[in-house]
Amino acid sequence: MNWLTNLIPPRIRSFVSEQKDVPDNLWQKCPGCESMLFHRDLEKSKNVCYYCGHHLRISVKDRLEMMLDDGKYEELPVPDVAHDPLKFKDRKRYTDRIKEAQSKTGLKEAISVAHGTMGGLPVVIAAFNFKYMGGSMGAAVGESIVRAAELAVKNNAALIAIPASGGARMQEGMLSLIQMPRSIAAIQMVKEAMLPYIVILTDPTTGGVSASFAMVGDIHIAEPGATIGFAGRRVIEETVRETLPEDFQTAEYLLEHGMVDMVVPRKEMKKTLVNIIGILMQKSGCNGPNGGNDGSKGNSKGKNNNAPNEKKVSAKKSPARRTKIKAKASQQALDAQKTAKISGSTIPHKKQPSNEDGSAKCCDSDSTLQNITKVAAAGL
Ligand SMILES: [Zn+2]
Repeated sequence: MNWLTNLIPPRIRSFVSEQKDVPDNLWQKCPGCESMLFHRDLEKSKNVCYYCGHHLRISVKDRLEMMLDDGKYEELPVPDVAHDPLKFKDRKRYTDRIKEAQSKTGLKEAISVAHGTMGGLPVVIAAFNFKYMGGSMGAAVGESIVRAAELAVKNNAALIAIPASGGARMQEGMLSLIQMPRSIAAIQMVKEAMLPYIVILTDPTTGGVSASFAMVGDIHIAEPGATIGFAGRRVIEETVRETLPEDFQTAEYLLEHGMVDMVVPRKEMKKTLVNIIGILMQKSGCNGPNGGNDGSKGNSKGKNNNAPNEKKVSAKKSPARRTKIKAKASQQALDAQKTAKISGSTIPHKKQPSNEDGSAKCCDSDSTLQNITKVAAAGL
């Protein structure tokens, strides 16, 4: 209260105080350009600043609805693990912190595992919510990643991890650190089943999460401007005693230095993922994802055409065997692409041969592959 408010007559004062009931989250300040953004406009633009293109953080629910077909998905229940086994307490009890985070976010844990389809292709998504204790990885999060990997293998689906995390959850001590090798072992299971594993690095991906499952994807996609790194900037500067570049630990910096394959704006994320998964699962074609052009029928094509060691698959082989061989060829193609990228050479794009049945190759699949190669090569 100041002298001016004291001068306001009581009636007018009550009117002014009623105005305070208006929710204070209608406007948000853009961290990029400091413009005020109205919540409805922000919702329409998928939490991307409509002035400068800055990607603000987005809730798991909104992200899943945005990515999966018709916004429909099924969520896995949060695994039942031992809560607070160390009886940890700092300024607050760990159990109280959990309760607070749950009431604040309406979520049971920092991760949500959902399965559904993207462009008709089966996918399992493990997405982090940064608002829940900084998206930190404890035993429940680690167990969720294991279950997501198991579900992907069971459903023959692609696995997509979307980290947004400060790292391991220190309140769980050693039990949180052990989730790092555990999540790696789970991802290995997906890779052995020859299924695609794609990581979408969002702001921020740091600490124990970036040091484990988040950096072993077949393809690494990042959102523009996302902070991605292990230790914080100040810690590194103090250790190496050097001033780091301005854009250090950003998605664009990592793209330039080969740690990330693509930086994709949020509005193009789904389309890009459908293309990539379609190629990797050999389902992208003129007939569409459900058009009978799947790997099990042995007439698909795409990624393996780029493989130097590609084996011609005989139509006489059993469907299961053919699928396995094709998946292996896909993996080889991907490895070759990554190797070429690391060695600094561009990836030669072979002209695609005709299908096994002699028909012309699908131009759409061809151009998609070229685009992916081009975008990936742009990171050299
Ligand atoms: Zn902005």
